[in-house]
Amino acid sequence: MSIPSSPAPCYQPDQLFQTKMKLNNRAFDSISSIEQHNVIRRVASVPNTTEYFKRSESVHSMPASPSPSYSLQKHKVQVGPADFDKVRLLGKGDVGKVYLVKHKSTEKLYALKVLSKKEMIKRNKIKRAMAEQAILSTANHPFIVPLYHSFQSEDHLYFCMEFCVGGEFFRALQNRPGRILKEDEAKFYAAEVVAALEYLHLMGIVFRDLKPENILLHESGHLMLSDFDLSIQSPTAAPPTLVRHNSPFSKPPMLDTRSCMNIRTNSFVGTEEYLAPEVIRGSGHTSSVDWWTLGILVYEMICGYTPFKGPTRDDTFEMILSSSVEFPDYSSNPYYKGTGLTGPCKSFIRKLLNKNQSKRLGARAGASEVKSHAFFKTINFALLRNMKPPIIPSKAQPIRAVHFNPLKESVSFDLNHHDLHTPPDDEDPFLSFNSGKSPFGMMMMH
Ligand code: ATP
Ligand code: MG
Repeated sequence: MSIPSSPAPCYQPDQLFQTKMKLNNRAFDSISSIEQHNVIRRVASVPNTTEYFKRSESVHSMPASPSPSYSLQKHKVQVGPADFDKVRLLGKGDVGKVYLVKHKSTEKLYALKVLSKKEMIKRNKIKRAMAEQAILSTANHPFIVPLYHSFQSEDHLYFCMEFCVGGEFFRALQNRPGRILKEDEAKFYAAEVVAALEYLHLMGIVFRDLKPENILLHESGHLMLSDFDLSIQSPTAAPPTLVRHNSPFSKPPMLDTRSCMNIRTNSFVGTEEYLAPEVIRGSGHTSSVDWWTLGILVYEMICGYTPFKGPTRDDTFEMILSSSVEFPDYSSNPYYKGTGLTGPCKSFIRKLLNKNQSKRLGARAGASEVKSHAFFKTINFALLRNMKPPIIPSKAQPIRAVHFNPLKESVSFDLNHHDLHTPPDDEDPFLSFNSGKSPFGMMMMH
């Protein structure tokens, strides 16, 4: 997967685009035209990496070597690449490859993400890989992909993760008739995403790259957020506080879950159609960007396309900055059943897609405010894990990875053949990647 050339840190709209409303009204002469479109995986834009390292976002500093905290941990064993048999390539990212691997002694399946150190040094991506490892190794939440451990050899970094047998939520969406979900189905997934974002925000982390490509389906059908290399973490997470409703007598106060409030950054990161206006303007963004991207995600799940997509990147940016949210015409769409979106659903999406980040849903009290919107009236967040997900991936022969496209490697990667010599500490920019001192790491076995 190739990454687009790095955009300028701030987008300057030059003129009004004629395409603006035409695109918003495309509603559904369009399903067929959508179907004719090649489905392209959308990749995240990253800042010009040289610039990124020069500017060195002050808030991006990670704890050097976080200690993993898994409540499920039973015992520790030391593992390295040679403890796994490669089964097949699951996915290729911007810098990494993800393999389905089998742990030799337990025969358990894992997803092993392998990053080339040389490539990361060349492309100035060391900080991002270290950030991803730091976040995944401290996170422990049912809707965030578990990282069992990370280790390195001379040439590569390895993330050993839970294998999400259902693959990308993106692919599951593409396989639905009309590429859409019913409102109640979308609500279920939206609720799981809100629960994961609430947890991340409480940990002082802004996810910044929410999109169906970065959501994986666990074998249970529940979602798992993955791919944290664009996330940003506050060095200190503030404890949650209470926020009163405007009418204090009607409702109890909400817990403000925005522990990452002190993060404000200008980095131009995210995925084109999902970028929030403040990111495009380069005017500084906060955890509110995750609520914007949730609005785009809910819209895409229900309508089958994102609300501000234009024919070119500049058109898309212009529409994000100036177009209002339009909903499709339900009468003309063969895939939409019923009368269209409910009022609470439209209001939820509109409030999340408020272009003013300080007025956006979630800006006052974070996830508790989002959860208390009428759209989620029928959701009991405490029981989400016990709800039956709308899509349950087939569990038959997980080793066949049927929910993944067959991928071929130009050069076959060999887990058994690698150099175990790590460079001396003073030369090793990846030093804190390991939990242990050995070139291998410790893996938590359940
Ligand atoms: P990106 O360019 O999106 O940043 P990346 O190099 O960070 O890519 P990921 O996005 O983490 O890599 O993973 C690439 C692909 O590998 C995913 O889109 C998915 O198809 C597959 N994948 C990643 N992690 C898992 C997992 N835990 N279980 C199953 N498949 C996975
Ligand atoms: Mg990534």
